[in-house]
Amino acid sequence: MNILVIGSGGREHALVWKLAQSPHATAMWCAPGNAGIARERLAKDGELVKCVRCGAEDLPRLLSLAQEIRADLTVVGPDNPLALGIVDLFEASGLRIWGPNRAAAQFEASKVFAQEFMAKYGIPTARAAAFTDFSPASRFAASLGGRCVVKADGLALGKGVLVCRDMAQADEAINEILVKKSFGDAGVKIVIQELLEGMEISLHALCDGRDARLFPASQDHKRALDGDRGLNTGGMGAYSPVPFLSERALTEAGAKILDPWLQGCAAEAIDFHGILYPGVMLTPQGPKVLEFNARFGDPETQVYVTRLESDLVELLEASVCGTLGKTEMSWSSTASVCVVMASAGYPGSYVKGKLIQGLEAAAQLPDTKVFHAGTTAENGRIVTNGGRVLGVTAWSGTLQAARDAAYAAVERIQFEGARCRRDIAAKALARAVDRSSPS
Ligand code: AMP
Repeated sequence: MNILVIGSGGREHALVWKLAQSPHATAMWCAPGNAGIARERLAKDGELVKCVRCGAEDLPRLLSLAQEIRADLTVVGPDNPLALGIVDLFEASGLRIWGPNRAAAQFEASKVFAQEFMAKYGIPTARAAAFTDFSPASRFAASLGGRCVVKADGLALGKGVLVCRDMAQADEAINEILVKKSFGDAGVKIVIQELLEGMEISLHALCDGRDARLFPASQDHKRALDGDRGLNTGGMGAYSPVPFLSERALTEAGAKILDPWLQGCAAEAIDFHGILYPGVMLTPQGPKVLEFNARFGDPETQVYVTRLESDLVELLEASVCGTLGKTEMSWSSTASVCVVMASAGYPGSYVKGKLIQGLEAAAQLPDTKVFHAGTTAENGRIVTNGGRVLGVTAWSGTLQAARDAAYAAVERIQFEGARCRRDIAAKALARAVDRSSPS
């Protein structure tokens, strides 16, 4: 099969790496890709994956590219092309593409839509309401004692979510999004949720329009600094499985969320083929959905692909065709940890073009894979090209060993200003209660 992957981050490198291992993959392209993706080879014949300079949001060019290379399957990584309707466009041209169509992608593209859907179909979530005007929004925040989360309705690069602990902060957040329009049109409407306390986990379910198959749980680390301090980022590290959530608790959480979600999709004629990724808070009252994403998480994908034993091409094909019920999905019992190495200044402004050294030394380590995110090749050398630069991933029999291995690989890599969190998976190791039945 000719396979085209869209995107350029760590998530897309992880998808390419896993897809390239499939005997079904006979030729692969990535648009636009990165320096790591351009070095991946197909397991079948050793052919290199070809990176094409074409932005992930340039839908007309992506369509011509897929037609030109006769793509049998296009795999969409990021949220923006999905929200722009890339799946509808490709399907209208008779091309096979994996990911939710525009209507289904609304679960991520509109927080108001997702919140109203959750209320209508009884999906456990935070107390919440949607607003377009300051005064009623402020009154609702006051009813929560100011302890709330104010969210821009639309896609805002993960930045349109403001956590507030008192009324002054809540009013400032509402003003920022609704009045000052700091997030542009994404903030024409807002959702205000009560502030939930608890451990946050990422769930992923592969969906085929009828069924949803739950992955093991994982946990992201969204804040920039150790101890969950600092600004929100795209994600500074992840691990799976989550030892403080038993297999049974995971299955129950999945059922509480996915059963009503599937019923709602059927009732509303939403044909969801792709990954549903709910961000979930484990509260004393049970799991509650904070948000839905309609694509793979980054860096969750890096830990998932290193644990997935099944052929990813077959799984994505089944997701497109509606045959997940007949497809096996198996996971290794190993733990996997991904530590993100970022540029100095990220998630604020940062400098690009710093030489990355030590990649060969890290590549020699067993059960370790360095996924590239913001990297590019310049005169045969690999240099930084983004805020999140690398996702250093290692897997082993225990979470502790996987974590040690990931940090050992980090030690081998250098670039000016490189920084990473030093506490990826630390919370899980401290709170591990049931390692014999990992989720
Ligand atoms: P979202 O993009 O909606 O997932 O929000 C980004 C981050 O904000 C989440 O990963 C949480 O850490 C935090 N967050 C969002 N909603 C809530 C909530 N209702 N209570 C507590 N934290 C939240």
